[in-house]
Amino acid sequence: MPPAPPESSDELLHRLQRFHADYFPLHQQRFQDLVAQGQHPKTLFIGCSDSRLVPYLLTGAGPGELFIVRNVGALVPSYDGSHGLHGTMAGIEFAVLMLHVKSIIVCGHSHCGAIRTAYEGAPEEAKALQNWLRLVDEALLPVQPCPEALLRTEQRSVVLQLERLMDYPMVRREVEAGRLKLHGWHYVIEEGEVHVFDVQRGDFVPASRSTHSGTGPFTPHVEHLNE
Ligand SMILES: [Zn+2]
Repeated sequence: MPPAPPESSDELLHRLQRFHADYFPLHQQRFQDLVAQGQHPKTLFIGCSDSRLVPYLLTGAGPGELFIVRNVGALVPSYDGSHGLHGTMAGIEFAVLMLHVKSIIVCGHSHCGAIRTAYEGAPEEAKALQNWLRLVDEALLPVQPCPEALLRTEQRSVVLQLERLMDYPMVRREVEAGRLKLHGWHYVIEEGEVHVFDVQRGDFVPASRSTHSGTGPFTPHVEHLNE
């Protein structure tokens, strides 16, 4: 058998080996605790698949803290009760009904290829993508997709997805009971800042100037005295 080459040309393999050799030994206890005690993440993060959106960096989270569902555009399918083979829908049900998360974040971002494609059209062969992007339709503006319109659409889409989340019976029930909060985020890559949706202002506010981490498109829950 010939000796292995001194340096692997397989970049992914090299990264796997580095994780096991360098990172894991430093954090071994944390991972083993998470196995022994199970995962108890408090947050469901629904984010765009874009490679520039790194949820762990934005939130400073580590292993066990975020339950993540990512898809093209950070979109939430309409709750139609069909219980079909739908990954995003199943992820939402798992997070709310089995993990009992306290927050759901919908995180879009600047320069989102999904939003641009919703205006310009997907390749002819991409039938699933064409269908999927219909979930953005109601957020589209009747204008040419200039940078400003794209940004507004990215933000409008976040709010639209939050509204759809409220159609999920288990989400609505938990939100109305005050056990679950929704957060709309728009990450501006070039500014290194998330802008959070503020339902009172009806707009997105830079996190550096916000007094909260974002709201859903509804009046916040008010505690009743007899509860
Ligand atoms: Zn995107």
